[in-house]
Amino acid sequence: MSRYDLEDEEITALLAGEPRFRLQQLQEALYQRFEEIEEISVLPKALRERLSHLPEFAPALSVANEQRADGGRTVKWLFHLDDGAAIETVLMHYRDHSTVCISSQAGCAMACSFCATGHGGYLRQLSTGEIVEQVIFAARRARADGRRLDHVVFMGMGEPFANFDRVWRSVERIVNDIGLAARHVTLSTVGLIPQIRLLAEHPLQVNLAVSLHAANNELRSELVPINRRYPIERLVTALEEYFAQTHRRISFEWALIAGVNDTPKDVAELAPIANRLHAHVNLIPLNPIRDIAPGAMKGSSPERVAEFANELGALGVNATIRRTRGRSIDAACGQLAVMANRPVPVRVTRHRVE
Ligand code: SF4
Repeated sequence: MSRYDLEDEEITALLAGEPRFRLQQLQEALYQRFEEIEEISVLPKALRERLSHLPEFAPALSVANEQRADGGRTVKWLFHLDDGAAIETVLMHYRDHSTVCISSQAGCAMACSFCATGHGGYLRQLSTGEIVEQVIFAARRARADGRRLDHVVFMGMGEPFANFDRVWRSVERIVNDIGLAARHVTLSTVGLIPQIRLLAEHPLQVNLAVSLHAANNELRSELVPINRRYPIERLVTALEEYFAQTHRRISFEWALIAGVNDTPKDVAELAPIANRLHAHVNLIPLNPIRDIAPGAMKGSSPERVAEFANELGALGVNATIRRTRGRSIDAACGQLAVMANRPVPVRVTRHRVE
């Protein structure tokens, strides 16, 4: 539970006896100025003191670890939640924008074979407030760094579409209450078709990033096991319908793994799908998940990554090589949190679609 889970009527009840305008003062302080309760100088001191002692306003995230890399332009936090579960959040400053990568679940049930979180199993859903609080925390830090947080990507721990309702409510808060542009918010998925259809019905112009990683069913089912339930041809059809209905941008995420999905055959399989969907392809050299799966898959060499991008380009596909951030700080998906979660009993369950 987070203070960012509180709805207006719940805050109003906690403000009993105060003038009505206190609600707006409090909301602006929390969502737009990212202030802690004791810093909200527009509120009387006695009220600040009272609120700061209420459990409803206590921070949901406590920093268990902070690591910096890339000359301070990448900051990664390991947060503990009130039940001891661990999640991680990464803030990345680029030349012209700052992006936070946030978690939507503690752990993940999708079991992607190259992913640290996938190896750790699923713990629980994050609440809307726990998701929003990661954004607020990063926005506050960005401001302290003299930057403005303007992009949010749901690419941390968890499969956002397996927690769809809470994730969508958090998107509404990020756009409507914090004030970020919807087109600067990216939701990622391994390809949960029912939720892709659901997203098409929702109004905000968010980006959809599909973690594809392979363009044939045999390999994709090995890398991304949910492919057995939602195979590529059905996924592509659902994405075509999504694009026809929304005209919103689709991108494919492709973690390049040496000798596994970085061959000319992979290029030849991916290009027609990307072209059919007008999709942009983001190439990410895989971060090795050392300590969790020793001897696990290795990322493609920088030379092969560049060749792969060029080969896609020659077939008419727009591809971008994503700069790998934070290699020195275990920035592979979920790596820090999986290690932190180890002492916590990890319950690996079948994925439940909500
Ligand atoms: S890659 Fe994403 S969906 Fe797959 S196991 Fe990791 S966190 Fe879950």
